[in-house]
Amino acid sequence: MRPEILNPLFAELTSLKGIGAGLAKPLARLKLERVKDLLFHFPSYFVHRRTIEGLDDAAIGETVIVEVTVIDHRSGGSARSPLRIHATDRRGDVISLVFFGRNSGWAKKQLPVGAKRRLTGKLEAYGQQRQIIHPEVLEDSGTVPTVEPVYPLAEGISNRRMGDLIGDAMERAPDFPEWIEPSLKQKFEWPSWHAALEAAHQPGGEAGQARLAYDELFSNQLAYLLVRAASDRRKTWPIRGDGHLVDVLKLPFALTDAQVRSVGEIEDDLRQERPMLRLLQGDVGSGKTAVAMIAMLRAVESGRQAALLAPTEILARQHLASLRELAGSLPVQIEILTGRDKGRVRESTLMGLANGSIDILIGTHAIFQETVLYKALGLIVIDEQHRFGVSQRLLLAQKAERAPHLLAMTATPIPRTLTLALHGEMDVSLLDEVPPGRTPVKTVVVSDEKLPEVVSGIGRHIAGGGQAYWVCPLVEESDASDLAAAEERAAMLTLRFGGDKVGMVHGRMKGPEKDAVMERFASGALSLLVATTVIEVGVNVPNASLMIVEAADRFGLAQLHQLRGRVGRGSAKSTCLLLRGGQLSETSRARLALMRETNDGFRIAEEDLRLRGAGELMGTRQSGEESFSVASESQVRELIGYARDDARMLIERDGGLEGARGEAARIALYLFERDTAVRTLRSG
Ligand code: ADP
Ligand code: MG
Repeated sequence: MRPEILNPLFAELTSLKGIGAGLAKPLARLKLERVKDLLFHFPSYFVHRRTIEGLDDAAIGETVIVEVTVIDHRSGGSARSPLRIHATDRRGDVISLVFFGRNSGWAKKQLPVGAKRRLTGKLEAYGQQRQIIHPEVLEDSGTVPTVEPVYPLAEGISNRRMGDLIGDAMERAPDFPEWIEPSLKQKFEWPSWHAALEAAHQPGGEAGQARLAYDELFSNQLAYLLVRAASDRRKTWPIRGDGHLVDVLKLPFALTDAQVRSVGEIEDDLRQERPMLRLLQGDVGSGKTAVAMIAMLRAVESGRQAALLAPTEILARQHLASLRELAGSLPVQIEILTGRDKGRVRESTLMGLANGSIDILIGTHAIFQETVLYKALGLIVIDEQHRFGVSQRLLLAQKAERAPHLLAMTATPIPRTLTLALHGEMDVSLLDEVPPGRTPVKTVVVSDEKLPEVVSGIGRHIAGGGQAYWVCPLVEESDASDLAAAEERAAMLTLRFGGDKVGMVHGRMKGPEKDAVMERFASGALSLLVATTVIEVGVNVPNASLMIVEAADRFGLAQLHQLRGRVGRGSAKSTCLLLRGGQLSETSRARLALMRETNDGFRIAEEDLRLRGAGELMGTRQSGEESFSVASESQVRELIGYARDDARMLIERDGGLEGARGEAARIALYLFERDTAVRTLRSG
């Protein structure tokens, strides 16, 4: 149960004065739903206002307070074009005041011709003129703060209103007992929680913001430690296979040293009575599947079942094919279960799981539904642990007395410093070696003016029996113009190479529809696949040895690296063409150059972080992993070690979080919604 002291912060926003359904909507769009959310809705920046005599006293871009006299109103010609009100300053210089949409009715009343008014807003250039869009009209005697926070907004809520709401929310914020180690607090000169919160909404509030960032990291690390401790307390079946499967398994290749090492680490874990909680981290193509296969066979050898969770249907089917192939003639029953399996097929799979005739099950989330009962599930493998806490949540969801062993796999190269923050208390096995005999993908950066040559190159490539990917950027699935551009590109390429050769997949397509296209590409029926970034990590079409990435400068480096991993999977020499626009920033240039220079995912991740620089929020989309809402990436790097030590010390002294600091730390956990971690305390 959440401590009572937090109740006011977890109340719905509509409990604040003046927030009705109308205002709740834009707030919800900003993901602001509870009082606490407002507290953590920080300003993007601060405006500094200056009172000026005349317009000439200020530069374009400055926010000013100026007195003007209204000279005329000019309505826009259509509903879409704005109302322009012209006014002059005391020296007679003209300014155009611009109002869009519903604001124009209000503006006409507030600013009648001949009226003298004090306004504030940001000066912009409009041709030879100056303008202010949506200036604020000040009361005669009214004062306006000379420094004001500017908040991220949505249509339907003004900045001033947002500030007021945050002020109201702040009044509800209690001060909490301190959860930070006193010496640490002193070292960084951090204020108390409440003071930190207030500071973070004001200029110069860096120390306050940093303290809140620390709170977030602390609760993150504390949660991981608690979940790990709970896992360690549980018992599982030790898996000590007798070798009757693994010893006769005939892989078509010799394992790399890194694979051998990882298999050894996993086998050591499996032999314990304590459940394994391990992350297998290896770049695309490093051979994680074979490692997982051996682990799963070990489970089967000891009379247990194994389940492999894949993020998508396509990947599940692909795993089924490759695991069956690896298993060869071994007496192992491998089946699949996805949301698409219905009726009799599903029934028979469920039966096989319950009676133990199925040894290995592959599938999507469907494999962990309540109706799916295993006879003796001993090992869970999660491919692409792309969502935070999948493993943790699964672990806690296991109601059985004995928890299965857990192996999570990820190809997302994240800087080593961040592994701790993103994966927490998992043991890590690293596949830091690429299987031999693979030629690195040749990466070339090409100006998009060379598009015709690139298209001719594809023509030659597919005439020779090759296949290729053409990747278009689609930043948001909802971005209609990106989708239109991608469709237009597909149309152009279809016209050129023929409809029977070109297919397209994008995120708005339904699963089965998308899979059908992917399957036609995988089977070789299609030569060219036009795709938005939905070609998932792990898709394996070895014959595709050419990739074109359009507007490559719009992709994150980690994302480009993942995409590039789709080629270079066969024996043919592969090429990746990164098309770039004409004008590139220094950083974009450096980023693309790095892609050309190296195939090492970890190096790319490190450099990406460096190039993006400090102060930038960790991109969820880029890493696909958990992101922090308060802590910036550089704060994660700076503070995560302290947070971990602090959390560890606390748990060593007070594992049940029952002392004064422990109680306080529970509050921090709830504040950052690590409720599952708190639940481990009661069960433990
Ligand atoms: P990922 O780590 O991206 O999941 P996969 O397991 O799909 O990589 O392996 C990529 C390819 O490398 C597969 O075709 C696989 O058969 C092959 N492979 C895996 N291990 C080795 C090895 N030790 N030597 C040669 N090829 C290997
Ligand atoms: Mg894989």
